[in-house]
Amino acid sequence: MKTFLTIKELKEKLEKKEIKKEEVISFYYNRLKKYNDKLNVALEIFEEKDLDKNNKQGILSGIPGLLKDNISQKGKITSCASKILENYKAPYDATVTKKLKDEGTVILGRANMDEFAMGSSGEFSAFGITKNPWDTNRVPGGSSSGSASAVAAGLIPWAIGTETGGSVRQPAAFCGLVGLYPTYGSNSRKGIVAFTSSTDQPGPLTKTVYDNALLSSILMGENPNDSTSLLRPKVDFTKNLTGKLPKNLTFGVIKDALESDGINAEVKKSFELAIKQLEKLGAKIKYIELPDLKYGISVYFIVSRAEAASNLARFDGSLYGMRAQDAKDLKEMYIKTRHDGFGPEVKRRILMGNYVLSSSHQDAYYKKADHVRAMLRAEFEQAFKEVDLLISPTTTTLPFEIGKMCNDPVKMYWADYFTVPNCITGNPALSIPGEFSKDGLPIGFQFIGPRLSEELIYQVAYAFEQSTDYHLKTPKGYE
Ligand code: GLN
Repeated sequence: MKTFLTIKELKEKLEKKEIKKEEVISFYYNRLKKYNDKLNVALEIFEEKDLDKNNKQGILSGIPGLLKDNISQKGKITSCASKILENYKAPYDATVTKKLKDEGTVILGRANMDEFAMGSSGEFSAFGITKNPWDTNRVPGGSSSGSASAVAAGLIPWAIGTETGGSVRQPAAFCGLVGLYPTYGSNSRKGIVAFTSSTDQPGPLTKTVYDNALLSSILMGENPNDSTSLLRPKVDFTKNLTGKLPKNLTFGVIKDALESDGINAEVKKSFELAIKQLEKLGAKIKYIELPDLKYGISVYFIVSRAEAASNLARFDGSLYGMRAQDAKDLKEMYIKTRHDGFGPEVKRRILMGNYVLSSSHQDAYYKKADHVRAMLRAEFEQAFKEVDLLISPTTTTLPFEIGKMCNDPVKMYWADYFTVPNCITGNPALSIPGEFSKDGLPIGFQFIGPRLSEELIYQVAYAFEQSTDYHLKTPKGYE
């Protein structure tokens, strides 16, 4: 079998009976086994005898995938790449897991990630760093590090990550993939370990826009058991992928994206080329200012820490996962469990979260952040009266070298400048590959849309993709 086939190509070959389901599954199973030592994409590749014999006929029959390890798979461990949940087994399938299985897929394992989805590099896993297949000295991005790296190396045709403030799109950009943050509430969070409940969303990571649209068509829809899920009718997002840009579209280029000196020059250059390409396809470009965008990081910093501190309070040794032994009383058991179980980045965030929620600081931090969040939302709404979609680079940096940023957490937080604001406001955004760096490293840019605009975003992104060849590039050494 050829490597680096897309879901679409696999489906065609299966339909024409050129390949068999079993062949496809064992092909990817063997690839994962072969390259996992090199890239550390999977925390677990299930035993062959334990693989689900999924005979359901559906969109993904015979097409295996990988799920980030904060998404529950019934009877399997869901560790969130944390020692505290190292042996915790999920009692049920997350809604997204169930939807994918109902379409006939076989999940081959659990993807590595930054602990509890907190990070932008894949370096904060308690079970080892994931590497970027384009250059194994570099990070694949995070927190959906294993999901992205595995798809980029062609070890699996698709994976699901989760995003709170960029964790699908940023690794997509660093690995040359397509990644979506859907309108908040479109994909159910049920069965996904909560980090920041008001922004968390699962999202697909794929080689192409078509594959991404196909997975979103499966994932989206109302879940009556999830009070934050939107009443959204099911849509086939692949239907309108014509390759043509819809007429009379105006794209708003976020001025900050080109003017700030915090952006890597090659990232900027790649983005400028993308703008030109969109113009060639017939789009109008308007340069607009979003003055509150710069507060995105601060708002995210406060809100995400506050919610993380609350959500992670449940991991104290009494209900889930690890429990410290030899404690003299209950309080000591809580303290020891949390001390031994959580890694440094998670602890930093819990401390910060409890601080901003403490009664003496709540008004100054959490309440204020909530207020600015509303301003940001209003600013996006205003922008979408003037333009159809916003565009910006996905990240401010190239995929950085392992070890370069993890000792400077604040610098790493700032690198999320472009991915955080729309998560705070709940707006959808899709990252796709643009021109690569001169050293052959992937660079992404993104479309940000009004709420529920995924159909348009996919149409536009597909037209761009089909007019370029970035999506056809593959890293060397994984043939
Ligand atoms: N990099 C961001 C953070 O560390 C985003 C994480 C995410 O989206 N899960 O918080």
